[in-house]
Amino acid sequence: MTSPGSGTDTAPALPDYAPVPQSAYGPALNDQGYYVGRVERNLYWVTDGSYQSAFLTTKDGVVLFDAPPSIGGNIRRAVDEIASANGVSNKVTHLVYSHHHADHAGASSLFDKNVIRIGHEETKRLLLRDNDPARPVPEETFADRRTLKIGGERIELAWRGPNHSPDNIYIHFPDHDTLMLIDIVNPGWAPISMSNLSEDIPGYVAAPAIALDYPWKHFIGGHVGRLGTRDDLTLHQQYMADIDASVRKALVSVDPTPFFQKYGDNPWAAVGALFDAWTDAGAGPVIEKYNGVLAAADVYTRSTVFWVMESIRLDLGFASYVHP
Ligand SMILES: [Zn+2]
Repeated sequence: MTSPGSGTDTAPALPDYAPVPQSAYGPALNDQGYYVGRVERNLYWVTDGSYQSAFLTTKDGVVLFDAPPSIGGNIRRAVDEIASANGVSNKVTHLVYSHHHADHAGASSLFDKNVIRIGHEETKRLLLRDNDPARPVPEETFADRRTLKIGGERIELAWRGPNHSPDNIYIHFPDHDTLMLIDIVNPGWAPISMSNLSEDIPGYVAAPAIALDYPWKHFIGGHVGRLGTRDDLTLHQQYMADIDASVRKALVSVDPTPFFQKYGDNPWAAVGALFDAWTDAGAGPVIEKYNGVLAAADVYTRSTVFWVMESIRLDLGFASYVHP
């Protein structure tokens, strides 16, 4: 912010954070700001360093998985680049939505009206609700499971309950040793705000175990500049388990009494300060343990701890106070 007249920069001093481990980064981007690489055989992934999309080249055309607007027109360029290098069709025939969120689907409308869009039935319901021209509703939907056979390739779609969003699905490529599951695990990095802005925390916490039940070697998580491994999911599970344990400890060790004594006539002030104290007590040991292990643990752990704490209180009823 610049104050009028003086031209002086009055922005508050921005905090410094722990260095990001080199292993958290992926391959360098090209001049157009994207990287496209082979996951396995004819399955490819595209990243702009923050978001990920994927596509299969088949004998009948290209099947696209998600269309993040931040990659936008570079999805088309990446498909064209790979198709021309391999002498296969660059015609996008299908687009599979992982879930309805605009940050993963908002470039859907860049593709032809003739593209067949496929998604969970809840994705369709939510997209009808949101009425966003950038995200046309899927013509083809499914409830629990659906096997796609397109151009000789097999893709297994499954909905296993709400997690990050009510409609987020598992996309398994059994013949490519790959699982795509968006917005649950950011390989090498801590989740962003409030567990990757997840709506259902018990579902979010349970999702990596469901993912690990599938056979695969390569993980497409939808975010960050690299693919994931099974070890990345295990590390994320450990991080979330440590948060759970630390939050439970904080909830029973920070005494609420002084907060209500101080702010007797303003219960919101008491609750606000108490939530902050619980969050700080829960986050401290986790940040210390994961600094240098998960990138940005010091940036976002506090936010995730707050949201997991509220789920442990409200969904699970832990440390619930019943007036005698
Ligand atoms: Zn999302």
